Amino acid sequence: MRIDGFRGRLVTGDDLDYDTARAVWNRSVNRRPRLIARCTGTADVAEAVRFARGHDLEIAVRGGGHNVAGTAVCDDGIVIDLSAMRAVSVDPADRTAQVQGGALWGDVDHETQAHGLATTGGIVSHTGVAGLTLGGGIGFLMRKCGLTVDNLLAAEVVTADGSVVRASADDHPDLFWALRGGGGNFGVVTTFRFALHPVGPGVLAGPVFWSADDTTDVLRFYRDFAADAPDELGTVVRLGTIPPLPVIPGELHGRPAIAVICCYAGPIADGKRAVEPLRRLRTPLADLLTPKPYAAHQSATDATVPHGWHYHWKAADLTGLSDDAVSVIADHAYRARSPRSYTVMFHMGGAVTRVPHADTPYAGRDVAHNINIDAVWLPGESDEYAATETAWARRFFDALKPHRADSVYVNFLDSDDDAAGRVWEAYGDRVYRRLAEVKTKYDPDNAFHLNKNIRPG
Ligand code: FAD
Repeated sequence: MRIDGFRGRLVTGDDLDYDTARAVWNRSVNRRPRLIARCTGTADVAEAVRFARGHDLEIAVRGGGHNVAGTAVCDDGIVIDLSAMRAVSVDPADRTAQVQGGALWGDVDHETQAHGLATTGGIVSHTGVAGLTLGGGIGFLMRKCGLTVDNLLAAEVVTADGSVVRASADDHPDLFWALRGGGGNFGVVTTFRFALHPVGPGVLAGPVFWSADDTTDVLRFYRDFAADAPDELGTVVRLGTIPPLPVIPGELHGRPAIAVICCYAGPIADGKRAVEPLRRLRTPLADLLTPKPYAAHQSATDATVPHGWHYHWKAADLTGLSDDAVSVIADHAYRARSPRSYTVMFHMGGAVTRVPHADTPYAGRDVAHNINIDAVWLPGESDEYAATETAWARRFFDALKPHRADSVYVNFLDSDDDAAGRVWEAYGDRVYRRLAEVKTKYDPDNAFHLNKNIRPG
C-alpha cells in the first residue's frame, strides 16, 4: 500500500513492529488498523487525510497515544500517527513555543525550561500535547497561567478535506475557539503555538504523605487550605498505596496513604511560607516537598502510570469538598484490590476562573476540584481481577453522585462514558450546539469521529 506524495513510513500488519506501532498507553485497547501512516510533517498529514477520505477509510489520529479510551487507534482503518513529529522550538524573546502535533509534555518542558520558561501542561511527561491541549489542559501551573488552551495562540490544522489552515484569534476564529476544548473533532493539528511564562527552573515541589487513616482530617483541612492558596501553588491530591518510587523510603512502599502533591511556581522562600500550614497539619509519613527542577517534578510520577498496563477511569467535576463528599472519598478510595489503582483530585481555581466562559468550550471553570478514579490491572491479570477493579471505580463514582457538578473534564472520559451521554455533559447544551456548528462547517461528514465526538448539525 502506498500514499502518493507521502514521505513518512507506512506500517501494516506485514511489518515486524506493527504490534508496537498500534499499541497505545492503555493496553486494554487492542485494535488492528489496516494502515499506520507515520507522518514526517504537515504535508504528510494532508496526504494521509486525503488518502483516507478517497478510500473511505475510518480515521484515528494519534498524538501521544495516551487517551484512556484508546481513540488514537482504530480497527481496520488508518491511524494518522504524529508520533515522529515532536519538535519544539522556543522564542525566548517573545516567550512563545512552536510545538509539533506529536510532541509529549516532556519534550515541551525540556525545551522551554532551558530558557526558564513553561506553559501549563500535564503532570505526567509521557502524555501527548495534542490531545491534552485540545480537551482543555490542566496541570500544576494552571492556577497561575491558566489552562493549556488559555495559552494557545495559534494552531496549524489539516481539515477533513485535506486543506491546511491556520487558526488563531484573527484566522478562522470559530475554529480557534472550538480547538480550545472541543477535542480532535475539527481536524489534525500539526503545530501549536503557546504563550510561555517564567517558571523556575527551580521550584518548591513534591508530595507530603499521610496515613490513609488520616484521610478525613487531611481532606477537611486541605479544602480550606486550597481555597486560600495563592495562584502560584498548584496541588493534586493522590489517594492509594504509596508507589515503589526510589525517592520514597522503601518501608513506606505499598502502604495506603493520602498525598498532597505541590508545585509552587514562584520564589522558593514564598513557596515555603505558602505550604507551611500544610506541613504542620499533622505528622506525615513522608515529606518530600523540596526545591527541585520543574522539569524533574513534571516527570516524578511517570513510572507509576506506564504504557502497557490496563486502565479504566471514572471522572467527575465536584461541587465541592463538603464533609459528606470527604466521607465518600475516604470510604471508597482505599477499597481497590490492586496496589496500582489510585485516585487523583486536581485543585482548579485561580487563573482558570478568570477567563470568561464564552472564550473557550472548556466548561468546568468554576469547579474547585475534579476527581479521577483510576482502576489499574496488569496485562497478565485475570478478567475477574479486571472486573473487580473496574467495579471498584464504578461504585466509587456512583457514590459521588450527589457531589458531582454539571460538567466533567472531557479528557478524563473513558469509552463507556460516550454511550452514557457524558460528552454532552462535558460541555452543556449551549456549548455543545456551538461546537456542532463549527463541526458542520469544518467536518460535515464526521470524518474525525474517533474522539469525544461532537456530531455535525
Ligand atoms: P491520543 O491518545 O494520542 O489522542 C486522543 C485523541 O486526541 C485522538 O483520538 C484525537 O481525537 C485527538 N488528537 C490527538 N492528537 C491530535 C492531533 N495532533 N490533532 C488533532 N487531534 C488529535 N490531562 C490533563 O489535562 N492534565 C494532566 O495532568 C493529565 N495527566 C494525564 C496522565 C496520564 C497518565 C494520562 C494517561 C492522561 C492524562 N491526562 C491529563 C489526560 C490527557 O489529556 C488525555 O489522555 C489526552 O488525550 C492525551 O493526549 P494524547 O495526544 O496523548 O492523546
